[in-house]
Amino acid sequence: MSKVVIAGGGIIGLFTAYYLSEEGFEVTILDKGDLSANCSIGNAGMIVPSHIVPLASPGIIGKGLKWMFSSTSPFYIHPKLDRRLLQWCLLFYQSATKKHVAYSIPYLKGLSLFSKSLYLSLAEQHVAADLGLEEKGLLMLYKTEEAAQEEIEFAHLASQHGLVTEVLSQEDVQKLEPYAGMDVLGGVFFPGDAHLNPAKLNHFLVKQLESKGVKIIRNAEVLDFACTGRTVNAVITDKGDYAGDYVIIAAGSASGQIARKLQINMPMLGGKGYSFLAENSPAIQRPAILVEGKVAVTPFGKEVRFGGTMEITDDNQKKNINRVKGIHNAISRYYSDFQCPMPDAKNIWSGLRPCSPDGLPYIGFTQRWDNVLFGTGHSMMGISLAPATGKILAEQLMNRKAPVLIEAFSPDRYS
Ligand SMILES: Cc1cc2nc3c(=O)[nH]c(=O)nc-3n(C[C@H](O)[C@H](O)[C@H](O)COP(=O)(O)OP(=O)(O)OC[C@H]3O[C@@H](n4cnc5c(N)ncnc54)[C@H](O)[C@@H]3O)c2cc1C
Repeated sequence: MSKVVIAGGGIIGLFTAYYLSEEGFEVTILDKGDLSANCSIGNAGMIVPSHIVPLASPGIIGKGLKWMFSSTSPFYIHPKLDRRLLQWCLLFYQSATKKHVAYSIPYLKGLSLFSKSLYLSLAEQHVAADLGLEEKGLLMLYKTEEAAQEEIEFAHLASQHGLVTEVLSQEDVQKLEPYAGMDVLGGVFFPGDAHLNPAKLNHFLVKQLESKGVKIIRNAEVLDFACTGRTVNAVITDKGDYAGDYVIIAAGSASGQIARKLQINMPMLGGKGYSFLAENSPAIQRPAILVEGKVAVTPFGKEVRFGGTMEITDDNQKKNINRVKGIHNAISRYYSDFQCPMPDAKNIWSGLRPCSPDGLPYIGFTQRWDNVLFGTGHSMMGISLAPATGKILAEQLMNRKAPVLIEAFSPDRYS
């Protein structure tokens, strides 16, 4: 059977390896780290078929400009004179249109629903696996009339596209959250959404893969490629060269830089976010997004994770504590009796979401090479969409038709 080398062992690389090894491919994953510090570990773990609108959408530009001037705001672009940043911002601006949203919805919806069905089959197949998968839906909670109007408008759009939505009053929200005092105007509930524990999911996949003979080479940084004509023969790392019949790039926010080594223009920047865990008391029952604060809340039993912010940057070293304060401040504004201390810097996790400027992933073969595929650019939905992306890439290597629409995800769309 053919050999596949995957650059990147985040959730996309792991799921791709999972479905490829099911098809009998000989798979090697190369990762520059030890898989413990990528974006796939400390995120909110939401599986969100409700998210049918990409980040690049009307309204974000105006809000973004306002947020740029506040150090605790949820969205920030580090201003610097960098050609890549300017190109990304221009493309993002051009994509933030109603037309782009209408175009993207069928693609995102198809991919998301397919992905959720794969999660349910995975859980059914591995009943003993402790993934923390729960189908408790998602609450979009708001405090202001302005946010209510936007969310209710979005709920109508989502239901026109066949998703189940419920518009809730404050009392309805309180019934769904019987233990925490809810200081909200209301909410929209998406009962079809789910969540899981991302660290447990990563751990489970690594164990599965290693037991099936997938080689995971840690601390091997992909530097370049050995090529002949239209074929990449080997991936060059600081630990040696790895030959393969196919190469898949799933290196998260670094995938754009790697694509440039392959002469492909695939704009990508990191969207840095932070999260921290707190004791879940009083017990929050359901995942939620605190709409005005753009904070994600995910209960994991006795603990609850709060996460958020989107700082467009490639630097994951520095922690901007003011942004974390922004997340922390939002909590008791919605859950009135929830008092958690501001976390110590050492307990704050951060990750770089791989963000394409149009908010759509890059999935599939590139036309530049006969044997190179991409699986990246999932931005805020990498956990949600990873099984679908992995499965589609495996189907492509088996010469099978993709199970859902994928044309919008072409890795060549900016080349
Ligand atoms: C605060 C926060 C909350 C989030 N919440 C959710 C959520 O609720 N639901 C959801 O669906 N998504 C969520 N996300 C987004 C999700 O975490 C990402 O989309 C996803 O983890 C991206 O996975 P990935 O495999 O593409 O990238 P990564 O997890 O970053 O993995 C890429 C891997 O490639 C490796 N790599 C990079 N460069 C090289 C190189 N040159 N050589 C070798 N290896 C390399 C890295 O070491 C890394 O291990 C959230 C993100 C944040 C920050």
